[in-house]
Amino acid sequence: MTYQNYSLKQLQQIDAAHHLHPFTDHKELRAAGSRVITHARGPYIYDSEGFELLDGMAGLWCVNVGYGREELAEAAYEQMKELPYYNSFFKCSTPTPVLLAKKLAEIAPPSVNQVFFGSSGSEANDTALRLVRHYWALEGKPEKNRIISRRNAYHGSTVAGTSLGGMEAMHKQLGGAVPNIVHVMMPYAYELALPGESDHEFGLRAARAVEEAILEAGADKVAAFIGEPIMGAGGVKIPPMSYWPEVERICRKYDVLLMLDEVITGYGRTGEWFAAQTFEVTPDTMTTAKALTSGYQPLSALLVGDRIAATLTEKGGEFAHGYTYSGHPVACAVALKNLEIIEREGLVERVKTDTGPYFAQALRERVAGHGLVGETRSVGLMGAIEIVKDKATRERFEGDGRAAVVVRDHAIENGVMMRATGDTMILSPPLIWTRETIDLACERIVRALDLAEADLRRA
Ligand code: PMP
Repeated sequence: MTYQNYSLKQLQQIDAAHHLHPFTDHKELRAAGSRVITHARGPYIYDSEGFELLDGMAGLWCVNVGYGREELAEAAYEQMKELPYYNSFFKCSTPTPVLLAKKLAEIAPPSVNQVFFGSSGSEANDTALRLVRHYWALEGKPEKNRIISRRNAYHGSTVAGTSLGGMEAMHKQLGGAVPNIVHVMMPYAYELALPGESDHEFGLRAARAVEEAILEAGADKVAAFIGEPIMGAGGVKIPPMSYWPEVERICRKYDVLLMLDEVITGYGRTGEWFAAQTFEVTPDTMTTAKALTSGYQPLSALLVGDRIAATLTEKGGEFAHGYTYSGHPVACAVALKNLEIIEREGLVERVKTDTGPYFAQALRERVAGHGLVGETRSVGLMGAIEIVKDKATRERFEGDGRAAVVVRDHAIENGVMMRATGDTMILSPPLIWTRETIDLACERIVRALDLAEADLRRA
């Protein structure tokens, strides 16, 4: 590899001179210099100095089968030799997206059988937004075009993704959102439940916020509701079990489509292929990406329910939308192999029956009692640790998320890559983590919490 001719210092200098990073304060980054990750194996990533880190985030919630899978490299190599690229425009197809679409229909909920490909989660959400509005237009109701989302949702970084999302800081920089998208409360009991309100009641109340938004606009003006089954980037906010069935009931009552954003939760993360199955809801669209290829290739798949598909195929008319790389043959070849690995190794089942419950228990028994921790929660291999100044009152440290950054920095120094979002620490490891990997991660996390607590209480 050519980078090996460069020292870390040189790479950092070139990075600073030429490379603009996503979601980054470039003044801050250039002062610090970036950590350069050069290689990875199984559950570990390594930086240019040879420092080994357990990857508690599976890259960015995507490397579900772990690193160093030669089969995936071979699948890409073989496909590149055979047919590196052809498009699915002008009445053409290539074999791998066709076979991948069939496979996805097999593992998706029974009423979801069609697939539209893109290269990223953001693109897939653009497609989803365009598609549901197109659907209602075909149904003769073009004015039924409002979308209801949630505050603090993350649906991507394109203009449509940012507009659908509920991140204030992103909206501020948008300078003009896609019209007719509104945001309601999130189902986040830890901060939003009323004193004495049970989780169950809180979940129903959070769902009623969707109904109120429908009634406010008038049901004949509302196209769809969109939500991440578990809010990911917003802090692994797991809704009470009462939330999704009630949201679905409300959507059906008012004939509003239900759009799930499963970009993080798809492909085994929650212990089912999709979180729709975990929460027992039937979506009209499901946005997926990331772990579809375990991040080895950029690929997204918008899974489309039978109701929308029937209108598209029966009424006809062009859906004027698509990408050069929709159904990229190499990315789809890698996805097929990735799903084969997940199946062959029984990773989804293992998360459901073994590592998921073990992870929850480890967080509860070894982490939740720590003086800095207000709550731990998880579903499958997706978890969160709330950082608080005072466990009893749930008071946070001053500085809006600064405390979690202190924890994160200690976690990294102690060999586990975690993410800090607001006052929440997030874990979303590769599904190949075993009980032993979970033990090791917990040890390192507790050490990081001890060190962070000393720093924070001193300050
Ligand atoms: N939706 C969700 C729920 C996500 O978490 C993300 C990315 N973290 C996206 C959409 C956007 O995906 P991408 O970054 O691939 O565009």
